[in-house]
Amino acid sequence: MSWQSYFPTKIFFGAYAITENNASLAAFGNRALIVTGQGGSARRTGVLDDICQALEQFSIKWSIFDQVEANPSIETVRKGADWARVCQADFIIGIGGGSPLDAAKAIAILAVNEIPDEELFTRQFDRVLPIVAIPTTAGTGSEVTPYSILTDPVTEAKQRILSPLIIPQAAFLDPRYTLELPDRITVDTAIDAYSHALESYLCAKATPFTELLSLEGMRILGAELKKLSEKTQTLGWKNRENLLYGSLLGGMAISITGTTIPHTLGFSLTYYKDVPHGRANGMIMPAYMRFNDMKTSDPKVMQAIKVSGFDNINHFSDLMFKLSGNPPYCSKEEKEIFVARTLQAKNIQYNIAIPNREDMEKLLEAVLTTSVTFR
Ligand code: NAP
Ligand code: FE
Repeated sequence: MSWQSYFPTKIFFGAYAITENNASLAAFGNRALIVTGQGGSARRTGVLDDICQALEQFSIKWSIFDQVEANPSIETVRKGADWARVCQADFIIGIGGGSPLDAAKAIAILAVNEIPDEELFTRQFDRVLPIVAIPTTAGTGSEVTPYSILTDPVTEAKQRILSPLIIPQAAFLDPRYTLELPDRITVDTAIDAYSHALESYLCAKATPFTELLSLEGMRILGAELKKLSEKTQTLGWKNRENLLYGSLLGGMAISITGTTIPHTLGFSLTYYKDVPHGRANGMIMPAYMRFNDMKTSDPKVMQAIKVSGFDNINHFSDLMFKLSGNPPYCSKEEKEIFVARTLQAKNIQYNIAIPNREDMEKLLEAVLTTSVTFR
């Protein structure tokens, strides 16, 4: 057995994580560019106040780039990188869900590297500005991953930059910032976190160490997803803490293994049909698990179901349908594009069962008809 792992992020988890550990910011330089979403949640949740107070205490100057949209575009991160150069930022602080965190990573690259759009997802670089990440959704785990996922209008797809250099150097995970998340975003992002743990577990690149992370992630997030489906339950502090911790575990697992079929197919549902990222994964996971169950006798498929707190795949599917809702209508042409795009991605070849074109067509059909009898 041989495997590697690389987790360079200093993680500060818990209430008042920024205030209580603000000295850690002093090491990154004298000027920060803060990158946030365009909806203003960083202000409303109090993160911006906390971080600005911490920066002030160490005489660190800051500027704010608050134009990041959901599923950030190359155009937006180029604007942010221009801004980083103008304000001579020494480091980048990303605040928000996965979109601002991923944008912060791309800005950290483009602020110090000249890379044309067509080489953005392939060119290697040897320097980026240091990145600090403050998640305000419990979902993507981007605070510890080497990925920045951007929307590329040329290839009409979501594409990822992959480099160990963009793993944030510090992450502050304070569940307080997630307390006021609207129900729908809480559910969508929790499904995303769960899908990271699951896809990583059923990936050929899984190691004994990532399996530990996945199993604990699925155990915690499976239980929280069940609570989220029971409308009578209101989420308390412990639930918010669990969701943020589970999301961190899922992020650590995919930083080593990557994701597979649900994420890759899900990117098309997001790009073409505007389905939020986590919800798209939730729509796909029932058919994905049915596919795995039919194509491999590996006990890990049922182990994943059981550790997540489900009796069988039907039980799992019922919950995912309930949380994700109906899939969008897709035309024949759209389905052909989704299948072609998914088959182009190398990472689907690392799934525990490797899909061919016919498998992918059937899997997509099963997703769109919410049929659990996928064959
Ligand atoms: P998001 O796109 O970052 O945010 C969705 C919405 O939630 C925005 O309207 C945002 O408002 C709002 N929001 C964020 N935090 C809030 C809070 N505490 N209270 C109220 N509203 C809040 O959603 P996400 O699901 O976290 O991220 C999705 C992105 O991450 C996708 O692009 C996906 O591809 C990517 N992703 C990345 C990785 C990775 O490893 N890098 C992994 C999985 C997914 P604002 O506009 O105010 O921010
Ligand atoms: Fe994801």
